[in-house]
Amino acid sequence: MGKGLQILNGGPWSIRGQILNLQIWSQGIYVHEVAHDYLKFWVQIHGLPQKYINADTARDIGNRIGIVAEVEDPRMEEVLERTFLRVKVAIDVSKPLPTRFWMDRNNLPNLWIEFKYERLQDCYCLNCGIIDHSKKECKNPTAMACWNPREPKYSIGLGVAQARRLKPRVERGSKGTSST
Ligand SMILES: [Zn+2]
Repeated sequence: MGKGLQILNGGPWSIRGQILNLQIWSQGIYVHEVAHDYLKFWVQIHGLPQKYINADTARDIGNRIGIVAEVEDPRMEEVLERTFLRVKVAIDVSKPLPTRFWMDRNNLPNLWIEFKYERLQDCYCLNCGIIDHSKKECKNPTAMACWNPREPKYSIGLGVAQARRLKPRVERGSKGTSST
């Protein structure tokens, strides 16, 4: 993989609080035709019951919010390693970021399933939820929460640090890991 692609896949990057939207400039197109509406994020999905914490659910939910690029399997050798899911999704950032959805359950209270965006760093518009401008420059009406119409929908905390990578377990007592 070339350095350029490594940088592209390791993002999104931000410079002084502004998201840098890197896109591939294909050979056949004029520079102003490069689409900047889609940005890839690792999205964390929090709040799911344990039976749904699997790669299939991550793909299904990812497909509802954008174009799935990569799915993380939260299990390593049959052992559940996380309490949430991670899916890398290209999201249309000309629209407000999805924040959560209701999950209906039979005979149990509904659950809010929440999204967190890795490396988003809270530099999107907190007024309307769109990435390409700040709250000061915003001309859109304030997005209100569907769960409480008097509360704004967006607040600090939608962006989170990148989760550690899942690594296969090392057998205890194997060479080099035993302590005396
Ligand atoms: Zn705005």
